[in-house]
Parts: sequence; structure tokens; C-alpha cells
Amino acid sequence: MNKKLSFLWLKGASKQMKIAVLAVQGAFIEHEQMLSCLGAEWFEIRKKEDLLQEFDGLILPGGESTVMGKLLHELTLFSDLQKRIKEGLPVLGTCAGLILLAEKLSNDENAYFKTCPITVKRNAYGRQLGSFFTEGYVEPIGKIPMAFIRAPFVEQIGKDVEVIARVNEKIVGVKYKNQIGVSFHPEVTKCTKLHEYFLDLCQE
Ligand code: GLN
Repeated sequence: MNKKLSFLWLKGASKQMKIAVLAVQGAFIEHEQMLSCLGAEWFEIRKKEDLLQEFDGLILPGGESTVMGKLLHELTLFSDLQKRIKEGLPVLGTCAGLILLAEKLSNDENAYFKTCPITVKRNAYGRQLGSFFTEGYVEPIGKIPMAFIRAPFVEQIGKDVEVIARVNEKIVGVKYKNQIGVSFHPEVTKCTKLHEYFLDLCQE
């Protein structure tokens, strides 16, 4: 991780952040490591009682959206988290996390939180060649490394959705009000910029 960047971020921060990381399945540990590196406090959401804590932002990690969606309901976390996102809780969804936020999925009859007016295609790059690494521009943070793992992309955007990243003309990053969703995994790279951007949103 880039210690210098994290130091700079900490210097600018005026409040200690506490971020909730959905930890029922998938790549949540890598997000937690990023947050620790940036000096942000975090805790895991695994069960209903975890929601009793106060928090300034939520991370929905990559993994398997179908499994996460099912567990969110089984663990009775779904409605509460959906309500908080609707009410403005800052949220960062990566890969399967982006799928969870989408209002509609073009190749799956399920949809989950439906808090972001976008249509997302799951496994959009195909199952065989679906994983690759590239660098791409994210508005407003600049060029960052991007790891795509059986990634979705955004096929349609609704009103007030900002496109913050495109790779090969496909939309791979969006911002809608308090929600940031990306197709790729920033947490498996050494670049902390996207997490810094998210923490800035939580700070506001
Ligand atoms: N293909 C997965 C899904 O549809 C997402 C993959 C990922 O999060 N890396 O849920």
C-alpha cells in the first residue's frame, strides 16, 4: 500500500471515519486492509446486531452477488441496509457490490437493493476471458489500476447517474448521489485512490 498517500489522506481528514464492511461472503478482507492503511476505522457486518453500531459509510465487496443477496435476506440485513442507502448513507460497491446496488440486471431476473438507477450486465465479459487487468481513468481521481474478475459492466444509466469510468467504451464506474459503484476491484491493487475518494464522500 502507498503509505505516503494514506498519510496525506489522514492529514486532510477532520473526523475519524467508521466504515461498515459487508462481510457475509466475497473479497471483504482486502477492503478492510485498504481502510486500515488509510487510517479509517472499520468493522464487519455479518449479523443484524452489527447494525446497532454507528457508521459513516458502507462497503459492498466483490464476490458472488446471488450468494450475497440470498445471505442478506437470510440474515435479515437486507431491509435495514437498503433503507439506510436510500436515506443517503455513502456506499461503495465493487463488482458484485455494484450488482447489488443496481435497479435492474439485464441478464438475470433478480435485482437486490435497487438503489441506483442503472442496468447492469453480470459476467459481461464472458466467463472464459472475463478476468483481466488494465489501467483506466476515474473521474475525478485520475488513472488507476483496475482488476476485472468475472466483472459486470453498466449497460444503461438513469437520470442523475454520473459515469466516472469507462474502459473500451463500456461503463465501469458510476456515481449516483451517495453511491459509488465500480465493475472492477480496486482493493486487490496497491492503489488506495478510490478508497480515499470514497472516504472523502463519507466525510462530507
Ligand atoms: N460474477 C460475479 C457476480 O455476478 C461478480 C464477480 C466479482 O465480484 N468479482 O456476482
